[in-house]
Amino acid sequence: MATITIPPSMLPEDGRFGSGPSKIRPEQVQALDAGATTVLGTSHRQSTIKQIVGSIRAGLAEFLRIPDDYEIVLGNGGATAFWDMACASLITRRAAFGVYGSFSAKFADSAASAPFLEDPVVYRCEPGDCRLPEYTEYVDAYCWAHNETSTGVAAPVHRIAGSLEQGALTIVDATSAAGALPVDISQTDAYYFSPQKAFGSDGGLWIAALSPAAIDRAYGIAQSTSLEGVLRWIPPFLSLKSAIENSRKDQTLNTPAIATLIMLNEQLQWLNNNGGMAWATARCAKNASLLYQWAEQSDYAHPFVADPALRSNAVVTIDLDDRINAKQVTAALRENGILDTSGYRKLGRNQLRVGVFPSVEPADVAALTNCVDYVVGQLWE
Ligand SMILES: *Cc1c(COP(=O)(O)O)cnc(C)c1O
Repeated sequence: MATITIPPSMLPEDGRFGSGPSKIRPEQVQALDAGATTVLGTSHRQSTIKQIVGSIRAGLAEFLRIPDDYEIVLGNGGATAFWDMACASLITRRAAFGVYGSFSAKFADSAASAPFLEDPVVYRCEPGDCRLPEYTEYVDAYCWAHNETSTGVAAPVHRIAGSLEQGALTIVDATSAAGALPVDISQTDAYYFSPQKAFGSDGGLWIAALSPAAIDRAYGIAQSTSLEGVLRWIPPFLSLKSAIENSRKDQTLNTPAIATLIMLNEQLQWLNNNGGMAWATARCAKNASLLYQWAEQSDYAHPFVADPALRSNAVVTIDLDDRINAKQVTAALRENGILDTSGYRKLGRNQLRVGVFPSVEPADVAALTNCVDYVVGQLWE
């Protein structure tokens, strides 16, 4: 394959466009440096680290504008661990799922494999579209993803009509949405995510904004497993009750990655100082619109998500015409330091996928579109 050198003046200042892990700002890394001998490598049970956890919890409460009686809870294992935790600690008997891509499918698969739960009710549609779970009898949890990272679809977040009256919880995977897309947390009972996407930290943690109903549910299920004849095992690592109790003390059940905490805390302060959710979501919308508009005007690229209302402002997916090989485009970009613009592998489309989280500069997104045009011009025109 020919080597293409993009003129340096065209290149973005920062070439990281991944959908997670995503760009970490230099200031976040400097925060690590500042704690190099006093914070890193110190006990997570002492006040220095607990203060960071406390600051993260307060910073997220502010950023997400959570209702007063909601709590920010965290633990180790990322959103993937939270799926299993929700199966063990939040779903009483049967859950309904909206499935429209790889990530929304994985949680439904976890629930299907839990022997103490009834088979989930799954509302499915083709990738690139969106389907919320529908009101279903005898369901005690409704689950879907705010942003389906594998397809670039942003779903609405609101309670399913009738679900509150039914006593069912609304459990929303916000892994690539929190920090990038607007949300009214009161429409959810568990809004959970990992910090390596819009919050630009490293992976390994899960964080959830929990309603009083979700907290009650976790305590109730923990209590019920002590009753005779209840065939549910809650492994200690998947006990949401224990995560809640640890979080209230600004700590995690087991040792967290301290660097992840420091970088997350720095990012939250940056976001909140700049204007919080309104600022962050407007910036992501700006970044995304640069890409969608470029694609709509291009004669070889077009947005993958047909319905403009479902196009994500967090993760943008752009299909390329068959005559343009997306793998060659992303490889040429990578040779020039522009990283992680490939489509989601399992989706298998001739596609670019770009994380446009708050850390990404709009000028860099504009530069990216010029670089793609340049590479395509060199290779095919
Ligand atoms: C990345 C992602 C996950 C998985 O997060 P981990 O931290 O790797 O467990 C889950 N759901 C969505 C929507 C994601 O984007």
